[in-house]
Amino acid sequence: MNTAAIITKTAEQADNTAELMAEKPSLIGASLPELTDLMATMGLERFRAKQLWGWLYNKGVTDFSAMHTINKPTQQLLAQHVSIARAGVSKNAVSFDNTRKWLVKFADGREVETVYIPDAPRGTLCISSQVGCTLACTFCHTGTQNLVRNLTASEIITQVLMAKDDLHDWGSTSSAEATKTRSADRASPERRAGQDRMSSAEATKKLTNIVFMGMGEPLFNFEHVVRACNLLTDPDGLAFSKRKVTVSTSGVVPKIRELGERTGVNLAVSLHAVRDDLRNEIVPINRKYPIAELLDACRDYVKIVPSRRIMFEYVMLDGVNDSVEDARALVKLLKGIPSKVNLIPFNPWPGSPYTCSSNNRIHAFGRELIAAGIASPIRKTRGQDIMAACGQLKSASERKKGEKVKRV
Ligand code: SF4
Repeated sequence: MNTAAIITKTAEQADNTAELMAEKPSLIGASLPELTDLMATMGLERFRAKQLWGWLYNKGVTDFSAMHTINKPTQQLLAQHVSIARAGVSKNAVSFDNTRKWLVKFADGREVETVYIPDAPRGTLCISSQVGCTLACTFCHTGTQNLVRNLTASEIITQVLMAKDDLHDWGSTSSAEATKTRSADRASPERRAGQDRMSSAEATKKLTNIVFMGMGEPLFNFEHVVRACNLLTDPDGLAFSKRKVTVSTSGVVPKIRELGERTGVNLAVSLHAVRDDLRNEIVPINRKYPIAELLDACRDYVKIVPSRRIMFEYVMLDGVNDSVEDARALVKLLKGIPSKVNLIPFNPWPGSPYTCSSNNRIHAFGRELIAAGIASPIRKTRGQDIMAACGQLKSASERKKGEKVKRV
């Protein structure tokens, strides 16, 4: 594949891509076979692709001249024709609890949010898949913003590379790590329990988990999200275990099974209600794909990607979805699905129509689930001082700039 072909392919896959507006096509987001074809087209040795791949995804270099295993003329040729530059960062906020939030700016000026949540021994990066969102979940601040466009796989991956740069988290991916990733993804549940205890090398990594829970509905940007998942979990590249990458959906039922078949990553579902009438209101995509259809797709997912639990997200809205009866109904709905339910205290934003359930109601809800054998951790509220509710930092920035975006 030559550079022109990389551009054409990206254009076919993305709407309005920022890459088309950049001077040179980005290599970030290209697969190893594509890099190999590119080397051949440029008259370079094919083995250079593996070197380039290692510099991009194992070492995280941002300048061809730092690739010391590649000779100077080749470095210069690459620099003339292709780019490995990261997206820009227009805001970088750090909370008192060390949660970090970046407003990432792409070549066309569009911005998304990326959030890092340290919770030793884990460090989770929450990444965006769209600029804005077409859905309008009533508890979600991003739902108040119009969809501008899908992100390309390159723009999704660049959020991870940018975070690793800022966290000084390069240098921990080695061939030993790649072997560990491969075997963890293939191991039996018993062996995996042992492997999940972190190695000392892994324990020093700041970024261990990736969740597609930022701006946008990932399954509405399906091809780019699948491509990004496969790059993230490539054992010779960024080498995240498939068990450490989670794609969250509000319930795009027709794509759920295919996600399992093509990536093998974890699935999270924004459930938030146990009755169709209420979910139609809170998560409007439910009008198209009601709860029963969604849960059938989840049952199939655990057959396609065995030994995994589905993570159900449940935001606690005071007096709306948080009664003990709701909890009992949830237990019934999840029967037969290996599940974990994350109870999320609602993080209010200006103008939001809800308040957060009291601690007592959240704990009473959780007790019903635990009594039924369903893990139901209460998510800690993080980064409140840096507008950590999804979409808030971007809205604040747009208000400041007086920017108006149009629905496309
Ligand atoms: S919860 Fe997700 S799908 Fe719903 S509006 Fe927010 S970003 Fe979009």
